[in-house]
Amino acid sequence: MKSIIQFPAKLLTPLREYLQHQQMKLMKSKSELKREDPFADSLRVDDNADIGKEAAEQFGHQRSEALRLEVDKMLINIRKTLTKIKIGKYGLCEKCGYLIDTDRLAINPTAEMCMNCQKKAATVRRPATKIKPKKPSGQKL
Ligand SMILES: [Zn+2]
Repeated sequence: MKSIIQFPAKLLTPLREYLQHQQMKLMKSKSELKREDPFADSLRVDDNADIGKEAAEQFGHQRSEALRLEVDKMLINIRKTLTKIKIGKYGLCEKCGYLIDTDRLAINPTAEMCMNCQKKAATVRRPATKIKPKKPSGQKL
């Protein structure tokens, strides 16, 4: 008996189709965001633009930039997941290699790590707000 548990194709096929569909939708909204970006407007004139308009454009640019980054992240996740399906590694934790809880995958099909590893990663990633000063172990010279 193989110890590696794999998801049956019966489950993976609809998932792959769902992800491919999501991928298409995201790529579409990405190009829409690009069009919305005031900085992408070829008719934009830099000179003599009034400050209010300039600020609005700046804000619009930052907003669409942030959204595009978000979309990019999702696209990367989807691509990664699709690759995993292809090579038969879908649902395996990237850290420990164990199968990710199916309940977790049902909520987040592009999850990369199991609950335990995700928790650990989140604690590590959280920036330290205070650096504890090291107590000198003694003033021996
Ligand atoms: Zn894990």
